[in-house]
Amino acid sequence: MIAPGKAIGVLGGGQLGRMIAHAAQGLGYRVHVYEPSGPSPAGAAADLETTAGYDDLPALRAFAGSVDVVTYEFENIPTGPLEELAGTVPVLPSPSVLRTCQNRWREKAWLRSRGIPHALYAEALAGDIGAAVSELGLPCVVKTADFGYDGKGQMRLSGTEDLERASAIFRGRRCVVEQWVPFVRELSVICARTASGETRAYPASENLHANHILDASIVPARISPAVEAAARGLAVRIAEALGVVGLLAVEMFELADGSLLVNELAPRPHNSGHWTLDACGTSQFEQHVRAVCGLPLGPVSARNPVVMVNILGDAWWRDGRGPVEPNWSAVLSEPRARLHLYGKPEPRAGRKMGHFTVQGDDVAGALELARAIQSRI
Ligand code: AMP
Repeated sequence: MIAPGKAIGVLGGGQLGRMIAHAAQGLGYRVHVYEPSGPSPAGAAADLETTAGYDDLPALRAFAGSVDVVTYEFENIPTGPLEELAGTVPVLPSPSVLRTCQNRWREKAWLRSRGIPHALYAEALAGDIGAAVSELGLPCVVKTADFGYDGKGQMRLSGTEDLERASAIFRGRRCVVEQWVPFVRELSVICARTASGETRAYPASENLHANHILDASIVPARISPAVEAAARGLAVRIAEALGVVGLLAVEMFELADGSLLVNELAPRPHNSGHWTLDACGTSQFEQHVRAVCGLPLGPVSARNPVVMVNILGDAWWRDGRGPVEPNWSAVLSEPRARLHLYGKPEPRAGRKMGHFTVQGDDVAGALELARAIQSRI
């Protein structure tokens, strides 16, 4: 056990790191953030921040030497240096888990090897997209194998005329071509697992996207008890099979017959779990800290229905003009709503600046109020 009072190192300085830092400090830990791009949202909340590249071994060694455990809030970290650090300090979830989840070729191959349901796919280099498409059929989606998030590095192909454009866009990149899934809902489940093998999965969240970016999460998801149990069971099975210590977020598609396909894995807190900050006994961030430090896991049930809505940089821009401060009183004056902002200075379009939650007696009411607040912000 890494006892409160010890130091947790967090690789990555974004909002997930910031909320990990808040939770860790709430339990009495010290937090050291490592972020290549300079003063960061997580660094502002931490006891200490290092600004250095992920390939800067001396800086990484000094960082590892200053903490008792290292975790990360961001997946695009080279695993070579992490494996080296893991020889001197626990790195959790392990670099091998990160290696599997950070690349779509490896992630999909792992799902396939374990018999875990996922969308049909083919690996492709840019020049082979045509062959992969003829194997899978249209429509389909091309995704870069590395460094994709929030729909970046993705393109949907609906006709053969899109092929040439895709081959040019993805030139020189490793990709996966995936069958287009006619899903009825997108779900995610966040599962915590400790080194001793204890697991706890939060209720499934139903996720609504706008422009490929998460817009809203709804808990409980509007699914049958059988699908809820299957989704949680799948997340636990994957966390166990991967040997995750920490959190694992599992994104899934629900099909019309209630079956589930896994879309993506993330070994860290996840945007679709932000509702846990306000509507759960243990937030996902505290749970992550508990799991990587070997503390007992906390309760995961939702106290009541809750809706989380992301606030993007677009909220600062009206009729193409800005930045203009959003109307925060629309959230702050509502007793059932809670506002969380990440302290990011530049409100760019599509950038996650904060989120708010609305709790209610039922999902329909919470969703209606959340949408009304969103439009007034
Ligand atoms: P991803 O980056 O893989 O999470 O994809 C971002 C979003 O694109 C997903 O949340 C879905 O809304 C959509 N998407 C991705 N892959 C597929 C697919 N194979 N079929 C249908 N929609 C998809």
